Amino acid sequence: MKDVKKQNLPSKLCPICQRPFVWRKKWAKDWPNVIYCSEKCQRTAKQIRRQNQEKP
Ligand SMILES: [Zn+2]
Repeated sequence: MKDVKKQNLPSKLCPICQRPFVWRKKWAKDWPNVIYCSEKCQRTAKQIRRQNQEKP
């Protein structure tokens, strides 16, 4: 079997773009807190939250 190590990397599904993303080295310390695949999606999530919190 090839690339078994790569396949063993944990992955998550981004709630914003609905795409699976795989563990990256830069997230090594922060993986449990990583929810979004990119800063862009994180920003989008913040905007959505802000819109939902707008007063009627
Ligand atoms: Zn995303």
